[in-house]
Amino acid sequence: MKKVAVIGGGPSGMMAAYAAWRNGWEVTLYEKNQTLGKKLLLTGNGRCNVTNDKSIHAFLQHVQSHGKFVYPALKAFGPKDVMALMESNGCPLKKEDNDRIFPCSDKASDILDVFIGLLKDVNIITDTSVQQLWLENNVCRGIVLNQKKISYDCVILTCGGLGFPQTGSQGDGYALARQAGHARTALHPVLVPLRTDMAWTHALSGVALRHVKIRKPAIVGDILLTGFGVSGPAIFNLGYIPTPCTLHINLIWQQEDAFCRDLKAGNRQLSTVVSHYVPKRFGLALLQEMHLDPSIKISSLSQKTRNRLLEMFSNWPVYVSGPLGYQAAMMTHGGLDLSSIDRQTMASKTVSGLRFAGELLDVDAMTGGYNLQIAFSTGYLAGSTLA
Ligand SMILES: Cc1cc2nc3c(=O)[nH]c(=O)nc-3n(C[C@H](O)[C@H](O)[C@H](O)COP(=O)(O)OP(=O)(O)OC[C@H]3O[C@@H](n4cnc5c(N)ncnc54)[C@H](O)[C@@H]3O)c2cc1C
Repeated sequence: MKKVAVIGGGPSGMMAAYAAWRNGWEVTLYEKNQTLGKKLLLTGNGRCNVTNDKSIHAFLQHVQSHGKFVYPALKAFGPKDVMALMESNGCPLKKEDNDRIFPCSDKASDILDVFIGLLKDVNIITDTSVQQLWLENNVCRGIVLNQKKISYDCVILTCGGLGFPQTGSQGDGYALARQAGHARTALHPVLVPLRTDMAWTHALSGVALRHVKIRKPAIVGDILLTGFGVSGPAIFNLGYIPTPCTLHINLIWQQEDAFCRDLKAGNRQLSTVVSHYVPKRFGLALLQEMHLDPSIKISSLSQKTRNRLLEMFSNWPVYVSGPLGYQAAMMTHGGLDLSSIDRQTMASKTVSGLRFAGELLDVDAMTGGYNLQIAFSTGYLAGSTLA
């Protein structure tokens, strides 16, 4: 029986191990933590948004880098396959808004339990950090552990990226791949809160701006103000943006005409009108920033002030100094250079007996279950195509 070592017991590694075992290989799964799936347990705020039930075409529109690369993996094992695997192994699922799929129990641990069950015939070695590949003449012969060479017919690297390093994903996979000559692209934290240079909004921590539109890149969603800047789905879904930068946010994009009408005439106070469109605390603070008296009557506003208000509410500038960092990042943007990886098998094009899957690859997507699905699909492809 041929032997494969899978390095990293996250979603991509567990799926690769399962697929390789089903494919008839003897599988050893190495994990540096004491238990498998430490990050998986944190996903979806502990509820695990395990996949997204969109067609592959619609799915790929939510992949922000290199969707084309993962197309064969999604074809081989897509959202419906993940859902069937979970449900047929005792984990019923439910669909929420935007086709997001969660376990009915709202417990990420139920997803992990399915994997623990599926991996019962896999040799699982925890508390073991693999730091060296055994390489000879462009062939990966296995791994080196405690200075001892351990032979495998194939090694699959599934060590994750750099997001939430406290879960064990600390960039080891890039270093292991580099030993085999695999380069990586520049890395950045994504799906991450942003720091801003706007002390007045820091004082509004907890205020949510609902269904607003970031102008470029065009993203619609909620933004949460925090003590250091901005967070929330619309911010996460920006993907990688070079910083420092200024985001322009339309706070009234669905009601711009009504906002203009409300500013034209009437006896209402400015604060009353503004509070109809944005949360009151935020509206008052924004008026203060504009040096406008909130108690002023609409009828006494000058045209110039009306124009300023429209500009501010439809094009609110947010000065971003940078991302919060990997400690708070759900994903890594960038990863192993995909030009030297075969997208039909996840195999190295330059070193035989070496494969990759999951966040380690230069692929990342928006929030919504897409990233876990990509980890599952690439892991499945890596394990199921071993020959
Ligand atoms: C807080 C949070 C919430 C998230 N929520 C969602 C969500 O709801 N839906 C979604 O689709 N995505 C979500 N994501 C993203 C998702 O978790 C990742 O896409 C996914 O975990 C990537 O899987 P992976 O197996 O490639 O890497 P990881 O999950 O990072 O797993 C890699 C594993 O490899 C181990 N390892 C690393 N180096 C070594 C080594 N040298 N030797 C042995 N073992 C090693 C690590 O300890 C780790 O267990 C979330 C991420 C975070 C941080």
